Amino acid sequence: MVQNEVTGEELSSEEMLRLKVRLLTEGATLPKGYVTGRKGGAGPTGARYFILPNGRSCGIPIRKGKMAKRFNSAILEPTDSEGVWIYDSKYTITEVPTPEFYGRISEDGVEYKKLALLHGSECMATTVLQSCRYWDTNEQCKFCTIPNSQLSGNTTLEKTPSQIAEIVKETVDAGTIKNVLLTTGTPDNPDAGIGRLAKIARGIREVSKIPIAVQFEPPEDLNLIKEIADAGVNAVGIHIESFDDAIREEFCPGKFRYAGLEKYDAAWKKALQFFDRGDVSTFILYGLGEDEEVTLQHCQRIASIGVLPNVTPVRPAPGSQLANFIPSYVNRLDDAVEFFKRIGTILYSNLLNPRLTVGGCSRCGSCTPLQEAYEWAENH
Ligand code: SF4
Repeated sequence: MVQNEVTGEELSSEEMLRLKVRLLTEGATLPKGYVTGRKGGAGPTGARYFILPNGRSCGIPIRKGKMAKRFNSAILEPTDSEGVWIYDSKYTITEVPTPEFYGRISEDGVEYKKLALLHGSECMATTVLQSCRYWDTNEQCKFCTIPNSQLSGNTTLEKTPSQIAEIVKETVDAGTIKNVLLTTGTPDNPDAGIGRLAKIARGIREVSKIPIAVQFEPPEDLNLIKEIADAGVNAVGIHIESFDDAIREEFCPGKFRYAGLEKYDAAWKKALQFFDRGDVSTFILYGLGEDEEVTLQHCQRIASIGVLPNVTPVRPAPGSQLANFIPSYVNRLDDAVEFFKRIGTILYSNLLNPRLTVGGCSRCGSCTPLQEAYEWAENH
């Protein structure tokens, strides 16, 4: 049970899961005059981070006007206490404050906030290469906005090992972060970006022992995954995005053409030679109209070998090809909660507790209800 401060009401694991699923799928709308969240990047955008009654962070999509109506977004109202908000007149949540490091400048003159962002409340994330080969061939993932933040001047094309090492050192010393996530657009190179990621990881290792998670597509030669382990990385995400082939082909045409399920299976198994169970993960998007039974079957299959299926509601991002897309979970909240209960049961029965992973997206848990689903399963 977790306490909701304002109402004094205890939230059961059932209600906590429902609240998280609601926030991530329906989002919230703000009273007039309040601004929304970040607008572009490789991860889910258009959200602001809040701490929920269970003490965990959640990236809440902030919607307005027609979109808020379409997604049934409930109102998020400020209170007299700074940073404290009430969601749907019932739940007290607290905004994660803007980290102090956003105001600093690197030794080579770049604002830290253009080099790395705080995801959730304790994960420093950076996109080491802010471009991707699939945008060059018009085969980009339809949910992606990776070039937008660079074009709008909010980030740089490529980060250097010394820039990231500098920020990690400062933020670890200040107690701001507990783990690091390195992600990348895929360069037009057979290593799928592993060389760049390894260089950055090695730079971090010169200044800190902080857990590092990295994300990449399967490299052509899977033996390269050992290079990322040798660089001191602790967790990897190799993201298939969907187990439904028709959906993958439609929404991720470049990635679909490059590698199929067999290649991903081989990449996950190779990664499990170097990383612990649960510290090898894959993003699975929920709400693209995929076959949910097929999704569940594959989640069970990969969970049984130790790969954590990071099932995450798709968030149609402004500036992406999905800006006006209506996910298949809209107006189906009960179904979505039931679906995530089944995911939680899969995780629990395979001893994959996302909160106990070493770092990165599964440990952060801001964009997915996995931790709450796991806890629901633990209590049932
Ligand atoms: S692989 Fe897809 S989601 Fe990732 S950066 Fe490239 S286009 Fe964007």
